[in-house]
Amino acid sequence: MSIDLQSYSQLLVCPACQSKLVVDGHSFVCRAEPCRLRYEVKDDIPVMLSDEALHTTPEEWAAIIQRATSANL
Ligand SMILES: [Zn+2]
Repeated sequence: MSIDLQSYSQLLVCPACQSKLVVDGHSFVCRAEPCRLRYEVKDDIPVMLSDEALHTTPEEWAAIIQRATSANL
């Protein structure tokens, strides 16, 4: 049984910059380009802590956003 990450992404915002998030695999990625943090989901709980977030590279981030926005069309 896994949580609906897509619905979570509508409710949560990035704790670092308050931007919206997109789903990438089993994690959330901040939509704000200067931020680009990735938040993992551990044991079905999104870890929304900027201290534990991972940085994505600009290339990674652009690909994630492109995938996420084209999937939502
Ligand atoms: Zn952010």
